[in-house]
Amino acid sequence: MHAYFSADQLRHHGQTFMVAGEARPIPEVPERAEILTTAVKRLGLDLRTPDDFGMGPIAAIHAPEYLKFLQTIHAEWKAVGGSDLVVPGIHPFDRLGPYPRSPAGKAGFHMGDTSCPISATTWQSAYASAQTAIAATRQVRDGNARSAYALCRPPGHHASRDIAGGFCYLNNSAIAAQELRAKYDRVAILDVDLHHGNGTQHIFYARDDVMTLSIHADPRDFYPFFWGHAEERGRDAGLGFNHNYPLSLGSGDDAFLAALDRALAMIDHFSADAVVIALGLDASSDDPFGGLAVTPGGFAKIGEKIGGINLPTVLVQEGGYVSNTLAENLFQFISAFHATTAGSPK
Ligand SMILES: [Zn+2]
Repeated sequence: MHAYFSADQLRHHGQTFMVAGEARPIPEVPERAEILTTAVKRLGLDLRTPDDFGMGPIAAIHAPEYLKFLQTIHAEWKAVGGSDLVVPGIHPFDRLGPYPRSPAGKAGFHMGDTSCPISATTWQSAYASAQTAIAATRQVRDGNARSAYALCRPPGHHASRDIAGGFCYLNNSAIAAQELRAKYDRVAILDVDLHHGNGTQHIFYARDDVMTLSIHADPRDFYPFFWGHAEERGRDAGLGFNHNYPLSLGSGDDAFLAALDRALAMIDHFSADAVVIALGLDASSDDPFGGLAVTPGGFAKIGEKIGGINLPTVLVQEGGYVSNTLAENLFQFISAFHATTAGSPK
């Protein structure tokens, strides 16, 4: 299996976000990627720098004005006396008015919360993270490998078509799924991150060609709060093609694996031709977010079960924050996934 990562992904550093009324350090730090890289090396994976596939695959998911915003807002913000980080202070309660003209208006329009500040280098990292996802996807889509790992950072699953949020700017998993659609009729995105993949759900909510499934801490008590409930099942043609598996806070391996069995049965029922795993590792019992309690052995079981569906698979890194077991959790997941899929046809 090949892994992909670009050093440009280390350039973004968001500094602080608002939690419980105070500014706290953003845990989505470059060090995460360096720790995950140690697991890639221990696994003996070939770590490659992605080619530049351009804007086409990104523009297939995200709105033109949003992509322009991500690339230009920092300079606009600074020009009117803004600080070195773009952070929203006001949000529209609907989107019925014209597109905002001021940098403050644009920031509120395109940013869902304070956890996705934009610095002078954010676009470079987000763009490189997306290219990493595309490179891994094309490796699989073009028949060169049965599976590949994209060490994406910043992550992507909270970003919708035109709104950043939750440390995410470009939805790498959605971009990967859309890329797979060029070859496969039915693609599933299975999100095992601690947090609900609200951006991914939103992007595909009315579609029946990409099934979205997410296992996460119950949003009644946990970010992203407004989405991720079991009742959200899709709309229009997409009705029945979105599945959420919220877990009570503190749930461990058994509850997670039971939800995973249900999600994998749904993917089988859908007759998916290929799958994207939105591979957050923050459901770990050691993760600083502390929402769920999956052990390293639990991540091995998750990897084994996902490998067991035996589909072309793109593993896209989502969350998972600095802890004593961050590298170990990735190692356990991919080792078990790989052991299960070894010997499968390409
Ligand atoms: Zn997360």
